[in-house]
Amino acid sequence: MDQTISKAESAILHTYNRYDLVLEKGDGAYLYDTDGKAYLDFGSGIGVSSLGYGNKTLQSALKKQIDQLIHTSNLYYHEPLAQAAEKLKTISGMDRVFFANSGTEAIEGALKTARKYAKQKGNSACEIISMEHSFHGRSMGALSVTGTESYREPFEPLVGGVKFAIFNDLESVKEQVTEKTGAILLEPVQGEGGVFVAEQSFLQGLRTLCEEKGILLIFDEIQCGMGRTGSMFAWQGYGVQPDILVMAKAIGNGVPVGAFAMKEEVAQNSLKPGDHGTTYGGNPLACQAVSTVIDLFTEQKLAEHVRRLTPYLEEKLDTLLAKYDLFTGRRGKGFMQGLITSCPAGKIVEAAKQEGLLLVTAGAQVVRFLPPLIITEKEIDEMTEKLERALVRVC
Ligand SMILES: *Cc1c(COP(=O)(O)O)cnc(C)c1O
Repeated sequence: MDQTISKAESAILHTYNRYDLVLEKGDGAYLYDTDGKAYLDFGSGIGVSSLGYGNKTLQSALKKQIDQLIHTSNLYYHEPLAQAAEKLKTISGMDRVFFANSGTEAIEGALKTARKYAKQKGNSACEIISMEHSFHGRSMGALSVTGTESYREPFEPLVGGVKFAIFNDLESVKEQVTEKTGAILLEPVQGEGGVFVAEQSFLQGLRTLCEEKGILLIFDEIQCGMGRTGSMFAWQGYGVQPDILVMAKAIGNGVPVGAFAMKEEVAQNSLKPGDHGTTYGGNPLACQAVSTVIDLFTEQKLAEHVRRLTPYLEEKLDTLLAKYDLFTGRRGKGFMQGLITSCPAGKIVEAAKQEGLLLVTAGAQVVRFLPPLIITEKEIDEMTEKLERALVRVC
């Protein structure tokens, strides 16, 4: 393991502080390091591997696609594209889909869509209102709408015309709205910023506000979408539909892919041929992944499984909250949960790793739980046992 780490560290740009762990393979909800030690994965590679590891159906579909055709460019059509787009349209409740290569790129596309739409409607400013504690990605555009100042500051000047409002505070959004406002962007459940769950009345209020003022409502469901909160997309759980929906992470279960989708009216008044593109966005391999992942989600009724097991997971987390003083609260929806801690979250995650449990942080004070959606009650029990053993050793 040490050799791999030093080899990697001598050649890669040091932008990540990684854990001392070299992973080799995965199976179900478990990952294995190069010594063969098993880790119960409650991070899913940051909400990506929702089907778990080593899914045979997905693997064989991808292998078959690799043998057949990996890339065509977007100059041509291919069957996986038609299938993935049709299926994503159906499950997302949107009308038109664009495939990108990552979440960040999908956000960029959504921002461009909003800009073009506003211009078309005579609003040439198209200001965007985003939320504090939000995370939308690291490119210049996505960073401009990300609500953490320390991420933005070193890279200013960024894309202009962005204002930040307070999440779950409708009045703070209303205060920022002017005739220049073109779109409101938010995660229905904020992930990186600390696992903050939108209140029903907040999303409903935003929807009404957007109707009244002709503003586009954009949901970034890159992390909270695809079954994670107990419905295929979080908006469906709230019954509040966005005009533009941004997806990535779990839609490819590890194959890099992102997508943004929109209602027909938005499509008709925004991006036209020549306005947007990508060389391999929506290539046959990525589309085969999306298409097969959607089939598996539907067949395995994963959103329903999340809804059924959420009370059990929440009960276990609440037990930990009651038992350990270092936990001061819990926030979350479905299989996207956070325990707020008075001790550095990174220390807890590090100790858990040593016990064979992988977790992620969400800021300095939140331990985040993003298990594969296939986990069982038994694995939830195992998670709590391992976490308790880790807690004994920290803080
Ligand atoms: C991960 C994430 C992104 C960025 O996606 P990448 O695939 O890393 O580019 C954007 N928004 C949210 C909510 C995310 O969780």
